[in-house]
Amino acid sequence: MDTVMNKRLAIIALVLTIGIGSFFVMRSKNPQPEPDQKITTTKTSPEKQPDTKASSTTPTTPSALTLPLSDALSRVTKKPFGILIEKKTSPVQPERFAGYHTGVDFETLPEEQDIDVPVHAICTGPLIAKKRATGYGGIAIQRCVIADETVTVIYGHLRLSSITAKLNENISAGTEFAILGKGFSAETDGERKHLHLSIHRGKDVNVLGYVQNASSLEAWLDALTLITP
Ligand SMILES: [Zn+2]
Repeated sequence: MDTVMNKRLAIIALVLTIGIGSFFVMRSKNPQPEPDQKITTTKTSPEKQPDTKASSTTPTTPSALTLPLSDALSRVTKKPFGILIEKKTSPVQPERFAGYHTGVDFETLPEEQDIDVPVHAICTGPLIAKKRATGYGGIAIQRCVIADETVTVIYGHLRLSSITAKLNENISAGTEFAILGKGFSAETDGERKHLHLSIHRGKDVNVLGYVQNASSLEAWLDALTLITP
């Protein structure tokens, strides 16, 4: 009896030894890749999900804009965003435009007519155009993302030669990147010295200063509501 029991115990011990031994051999033979991959895949997917959730609630790009001119807020005295301009009643006389104003006009002071008035970028993004445009003289166009929305910013009535930034060059918010054009010259296309600033929603470039239906204004944003002093 004793020898039978001993034999059985010996067999069990042998089986256990082989079993445990082969388990460790197997582990050391194909070691890291499997568990490692499992760790990374399980790690990345839960990490990505909270990321997208967070971005839908809190914007990842700033929602506040930088002032385009010094004392910018006090300069909006004639044409705010959305005002309906008619030639006879316009605050600017003589007036050659009519319709709903797609931008905000920032006026200059009498003593600023013959000095350089620097224009600052209101947001951070690349310069996508600098050219002459009818009704504006010189314009600069910048692409930005404001509160997670891609927008196209038009700065109108600029002195083109003052813009040293190259196309596609990034301009940081607050950077002085241009000088206002001289009043009643080709630099402003004959307009008074002022900055017309419009923010068109999306990537399309649209330099329209006025639209004929109030509902069309939905394609633009009011810069003033986005500026925090
Ligand atoms: Zn304007």
